[in-house]
Amino acid sequence: MTLSASERTRYQRHLALTEIGAAGQEKLKAARVLIVGAGGLGSPAALYLAAAGCGTLGLLDCDRIELSNLQRQVLFDTARLAEPKAEAGRARLAALNPEIRVIAHALELTSSNAREIIAQYDLVLDGTDRLSTRYLLNDVCVILRKPLVSAAIHRFEGQVMTYVPGEGPCYRCVFPQAPDGIVANCAEAGVLGVLPGVLGTLEATEAIKLITGIGTPLSGRLLTYDALEMRFTEFHVSRRPDCAVCGDRPTITAPEHSEGLTVTNSTQGVQRLSATALRDLLAAPGGAKRLLVDVREPSEWEVGHLEGALHIPLGELPARLGEIPPDSAPVFICRSGGRSLAACQLALRAGVASPTNLEGGMRAWAAEVDPTIEVA
Ligand SMILES: [Zn+2]
Repeated sequence: MTLSASERTRYQRHLALTEIGAAGQEKLKAARVLIVGAGGLGSPAALYLAAAGCGTLGLLDCDRIELSNLQRQVLFDTARLAEPKAEAGRARLAALNPEIRVIAHALELTSSNAREIIAQYDLVLDGTDRLSTRYLLNDVCVILRKPLVSAAIHRFEGQVMTYVPGEGPCYRCVFPQAPDGIVANCAEAGVLGVLPGVLGTLEATEAIKLITGIGTPLSGRLLTYDALEMRFTEFHVSRRPDCAVCGDRPTITAPEHSEGLTVTNSTQGVQRLSATALRDLLAAPGGAKRLLVDVREPSEWEVGHLEGALHIPLGELPARLGEIPPDSAPVFICRSGGRSLAACQLALRAGVASPTNLEGGMRAWAAEVDPTIEVA
């Protein structure tokens, strides 16, 4: 896979990096990457991987472009409304970089086709908004030993992690069970348009690192991003020996697909309360005993907090989870609801049942319930 003269010019800024150089660029040229979901996450990932010279890019999506997609799905133009995303995306990427090969998979990933499609690629990027597809993708990647970069977004918050076969945990290790209920998706809950741009670009970064063998992959680490607080938080996560797919005695050894679990994000199992609903809950008989956990920093806590709340800054939570009884259904609180959502996820993974997020945080509490409380 040697580089042509025009490729050497095109990728000159990569060639100038000693960590990548011609050898790394040739690895990129030889690489085959599948992007599942040509939406908010897949758009920036596909554009950057195409621009970076990733030699074969697969774009898998069964949807057509809608006007409401264009607020964040930067792979598409207004002129291409109603076209299949996979085809329109292929055309856009080919125009960006004619040196690469782009394969459009205008279909839905199912348990019957997943293995055959994924086997054609070296690495997979998860940009889907369907929970069932997310688990299917994870399971097939584990079974076929393909690295998987997985990201999810919700409102103003997102998360990303990388599965490296034989090294770190898989998505199912971190989020063991598919949820029973349905969680609001982007269409219902809304999403900040630029948010998937950040997470999709992180996914592309991970892909380039894995292909060229530079840096340290996001394996064994779950990175969360809170756009409102402009805060990245990292959680160390380990492989679970009892994981259903990558564990010592796996029970999932072939692709499975739970059709009907159509929605997703990172917050399955987490309850949500508005400020007024929390006020009513606390006022109800026995409600005052409900455990409130404020995960803000000490300086924010000192300015003002809810009476009786337990104070555990988010960064200390992994070490202090023992202070939260597993059956206490704690309500996590922060300034605007982002850090507390991360706390809910952390508690859920640690076995705490029904962690609850105060939506909008102390700012919502001050606006809707108690204007006398100070919020830093
Ligand atoms: Zn696992």
